[in-house]
Amino acid sequence: MASFIPVSDASDFSFSNLPWGAVVWTDGTTHLATRLGGTVISLRALHQAGMFAGFAELQQDCFNAFIDRGPEAWSAVRRELQALYRAGSAWESSPLRAACEADCAAVANVLPVRIGDYTDFYASRQHATNVGMMFRDPANALLPNWLHLPVGYHGRASTVAVSGTDVVRPNGQRKGPNDPAPVFGPSVKLDFELEVGVVLRGGPTDGSWISVDQAESHIFGLVLFKDWSARDIQQWEYVPLGPFLAKNFASTMGAWIVPFEALEGARCAGAPQEDPSPLPYLKQDRRASHWDLTLEVAIVAADGRETVISTSNAKHLYWSFAQQIAHHSINGCVLRSGDLLASGTISGDEPGSYGSMLELTWNGSKPIRLHDGSERAFIEDGDTVALRGRTAQGPRIGFGDCLARILPAKPWQK
Ligand code: CA
Repeated sequence: MASFIPVSDASDFSFSNLPWGAVVWTDGTTHLATRLGGTVISLRALHQAGMFAGFAELQQDCFNAFIDRGPEAWSAVRRELQALYRAGSAWESSPLRAACEADCAAVANVLPVRIGDYTDFYASRQHATNVGMMFRDPANALLPNWLHLPVGYHGRASTVAVSGTDVVRPNGQRKGPNDPAPVFGPSVKLDFELEVGVVLRGGPTDGSWISVDQAESHIFGLVLFKDWSARDIQQWEYVPLGPFLAKNFASTMGAWIVPFEALEGARCAGAPQEDPSPLPYLKQDRRASHWDLTLEVAIVAADGRETVISTSNAKHLYWSFAQQIAHHSINGCVLRSGDLLASGTISGDEPGSYGSMLELTWNGSKPIRLHDGSERAFIEDGDTVALRGRTAQGPRIGFGDCLARILPAKPWQK
């Protein structure tokens, strides 16, 4: 199936993708949109032109109300888009078409959902093992709960920003194990975490839960997610309640949500969960509940040239998204449409596939050399970190670059 809009094989935004996004349109207002190659297509303008009957939610400036409509509504809009933009469609020569399309360079992405709550998991076994080896006990790197439940914490939605938004280096307290007292200043161990997030449809509000078998019907789509982390602040502050100011100064979300339905062909099995077997509420009958998505991290230095520093895959997650959702809601916690769950850092088995500087440089002890010969133990001011992701096999369906540049810390004064 092809569109009358030509799409290069190197584009993430193939006709099989049709991602969900939001842009500041040429008229200055925010439009919900999709994208084919370099062409952004306004769903609002299409609705005004008479498409998507019954879906007035597409006139809004975020997807939350549309997400509430559920998977059948999401599919119906996708089917209509596919019919409209298919090669041979009468829409190609419609006089109404021009007002519905813009070049991607002419519009700016904004967050496509209003994120009420953001939760970050810790679902990659290799990542949890690496961190445990570095900071606790190499012989017992995984804590006793890790193989029994998806560990997570509540993040902060207010500082989740869309790809392209600069990030200011945070100030904070830090104290190394051998320092006599804490000091204050700009973080000297600024890091990213390579993650994939899911944008949720809301669940029950009466104390019941979303079962592991129902959980996938609550996934609107997948996004790239970069959890900025100040490792020096984190190491000092995290005991006993977990991450706080080391994480909540910024997170970067990809601009385009890849529809869950579009990724059906990328399903794959996860690691066996037999030793131990999860408790019944987390047990999945279907093993193909993971996604074979190639992930990549690059540092773009101030001169504009980039160095790829990690290549990973979403299938390295131990706990599936369905298990994360089921666990999150099993106690009656209310999940709402537009909420964001992120996977936690995705690290593969090989050092070149680790998903953070902490692991890639082993807490700064093995710096990475960039294209210009300079070295990075952590992320420096002026660096841009780019995450990319796409289907590893079959038709290319990708997320587009998830970018953020680091600006110097604000000088503190009383
Ligand atoms: Ca994280």
